[in-house]
Amino acid sequence: MKRSFQGFVLVTTLLTFAPQALPQDYDGTPLRIRVRVHNYAQVASEILVPAEAQAAEILGKAGIEITWSNCDPAKASLADAAECNQLMRPTELGVRVLPYFGVGAGITKKTMGLAVGNLASISVRRVKEEATEFGVQPCEVLGPAIAHEIGHLLLQQGHSPTGIMRAHWRREDYERAPRGAFTFTSEQGEQMQAEVSKRVQAQGAAEVATATVTK
Ligand SMILES: [Zn+2]
Repeated sequence: MKRSFQGFVLVTTLLTFAPQALPQDYDGTPLRIRVRVHNYAQVASEILVPAEAQAAEILGKAGIEITWSNCDPAKASLADAAECNQLMRPTELGVRVLPYFGVGAGITKKTMGLAVGNLASISVRRVKEEATEFGVQPCEVLGPAIAHEIGHLLLQQGHSPTGIMRAHWRREDYERAPRGAFTFTSEQGEQMQAEVSKRVQAQGAAEVATATVTK
């Protein structure tokens, strides 16, 4: 009897204090994820910047706001974003832009992207091959490819029969792209928002814990 009474008190306490513990950007403002782009392939900014803008637009329509940190592994320039060398936080994801993938387990010559844990990788060779095949600019393939891989990281699941999370894209997808062929379903948007919300809360809790330890 006493045990269950204590349980009741604990639940009441959590319900009372949980809303105050939520980070400020939990309610109302867009849910935000920082993405570090490690440009191993040395893709020119004329390609990378519009690709990032398109990926941000696609994810923005699904309710996820992206802040990019562009990291240049080759130059290690002082102008590199300060976040590039720090430990990844819960609200951060990594995207490696690689020249190509070596063929191996689960990777074929046609593989354009991979997503494992909090890190996605993209083969620029495949991006360029697909751009040539469908007569579009490389940035028009790279942008949706980045959004697709971030989708894998946030949804923690495979492909869907429609929209941007399909396994393969066709010529008509690129032709329809300006009108929104590369979109997440509303269900996927809600799933990603829930995932980012969880990460924002985890980050808030981690920051509180760090502050307590360093006091
Ligand atoms: Zn995929």
